[in-house]
Amino acid sequence: MKKIIAMTLAAVMCAAALTACGSDAANADVQSTVSETQSASTEGASTEAQETQAASEENASTEAETADGDNVLIVGTNAEFPPFEYVGDDGEPDGFDIALIKAIGEKLGMEVQVENMEFNSLIASIGTKIDAVIAGMTVTEERAAAVDFSDTYYEAVQSVIVPADSDIKAAADLENKTIGVQLDTTGNFIADEIPGATVQAYNKGADAVNDLINGRVDAVIIDTNPAQVFAQQFEGELVALDGADFDFEAEYYAIALPKGSDLVEKVNQAIADLKADGTFDALVAQYIGEVE
Ligand code: GLN
Repeated sequence: MKKIIAMTLAAVMCAAALTACGSDAANADVQSTVSETQSASTEGASTEAQETQAASEENASTEAETADGDNVLIVGTNAEFPPFEYVGDDGEPDGFDIALIKAIGEKLGMEVQVENMEFNSLIASIGTKIDAVIAGMTVTEERAAAVDFSDTYYEAVQSVIVPADSDIKAAADLENKTIGVQLDTTGNFIADEIPGATVQAYNKGADAVNDLINGRVDAVIIDTNPAQVFAQQFEGELVALDGADFDFEAEYYAIALPKGSDLVEKVNQAIADLKADGTFDALVAQYIGEVE
């Protein structure tokens, strides 16, 4: 876990949505636990040591470190979630989250290394293979029991993608339907609660969308921004319906860090700084296309 943790992801700001951040998303508790446990991360630290690269950059007084003492932040993502993360033309992960974490790394004097992984293995890998996660990840109580979250940086909601000629229009119409989701996402959790629904979980949202095109599922529940991207890819065939019509609640994305990591506060500060200096809004405009 040498390079692990660095991600300071902190604070982002719940911007306008702030007040809601703590509501059902449990973000409030998350922050309070941050400095408590220094956690066990030191133990595994020697595992796969890599050359020390920290030495040369130690001068910056603001420089942050991972739990094992280096300044390389290994950040896990799942590059299947446009516009937040996707594989760019050069084969490397790109997207809003990737740009954000790199900007945070710069503020912290840390080198950011992005690891592309399955979404459902991200949380379990924190503290071993990776130092942090940025993956359009919604703060949930269950996740917050396993990791500490930064301040939230984006308000989202789930959407329902359906064929253009579907008669699914509202929550009751999803009952007893076959619904595609990405495994272990909040869309998956919502689908699990729909009466009579058969839930098909895929490793990639795009695979769920393909099965929607093929008629193997009746609808796909996925976060709004990716839903819009996927629906655009099949313009005329698919439409992304507004989650408000299905009574879906707002969700908030945050960066996940090991329990007790002292990077939480630093990441939060970096996010606040990026908001204050305009970088954050510029990235929103560049990757997402609208400024909150
Ligand atoms: N926001 C959703 C979640 O956290 C989906 C994230 C994703 O698929 N990358 O579960």
